[in-house]
Amino acid sequence: MTPKIAFITGASRGIGAAVAERLAQVGYHLAINSRSEEPLNKKAKELSETYHTVCLALPGDVGEEAFVKAAFYKIKQQLGPVDLLVNNAGISHIGLMTDLTLADWNRILATNLTSVFLCSKYCANQMILRKKGKIINISSVWGNVGASCEAAYSASKGGVNALTKALAKELAPSNIQVNAVACGTIDTDMNRCFDEGERCALEEEIPCGRFGSPQEVAEVVLSLAEAPAYLTGQVITLDGGWT
Ligand code: NDP
Repeated sequence: MTPKIAFITGASRGIGAAVAERLAQVGYHLAINSRSEEPLNKKAKELSETYHTVCLALPGDVGEEAFVKAAFYKIKQQLGPVDLLVNNAGISHIGLMTDLTLADWNRILATNLTSVFLCSKYCANQMILRKKGKIINISSVWGNVGASCEAAYSASKGGVNALTKALAKELAPSNIQVNAVACGTIDTDMNRCFDEGERCALEEEIPCGRFGSPQEVAEVVLSLAEAPAYLTGQVITLDGGWT
């Protein structure tokens, strides 16, 4: 059987790296991305050697159209058309809205939301021709309920949730499914800003009593990738019962 092709953005570490690893384990050929080149190349080498899979490293900013357009061209040339797009790249920003600069707002929106539009657009062009494909967006519970001192982040993820539902409707006639995973607190670099006391306080708030692991997110992504075509337009919350 021809291997399926997946493109995972923001996959040098954290959730994206765990998703790439899980997909490699089940035989996908991969294209992975992050802005930094060195850790990305290292991750690509590690994945291809461990799982005997093809793993193409595509360093660049997914908030920039020229990069995204060139990336999809390269994937098609070197691996083939994309079967699964995982829009995972993201950044967080904690601070009062009144202190947020327009430059910060634009950077957060470009990374977390514009990237999802751009990657979905160039990917859907390929998927529509083949009448099949899956798009999975990594979102946040803050996109569902909003967080104090995370206005831009919450707005970007709320946008991802709405975009997920809109694209699911637009692309369903082309047999393309679009879903999102709204994560709670996952144990990655993104949460290294919390000290031990803050971490314990957060864990006490979460009914499961702990942060989620990137591997648990990867498991949900794989389930969505393998789900029947009738499952589309859903934002699945994965937060240990927190929100
Ligand atoms: P990490 O900070 O661990 O990893 C983020 C990844 O995205 C890195 O590979 C980073 O590499 C890459 N990245 C950041 N900006 C860009 C960009 N402009 N273009 C390309 N790649 C980029 O974060 P997580 O793994 O925790 O987060 C992954 C996703 O999950 C994000 O969308 C985040 O919002 C979401 N999420 C995470 C939660 C958590 O608690 N951890 C909770 C809810 C949602 P580099 O810096 O080299 O570009």
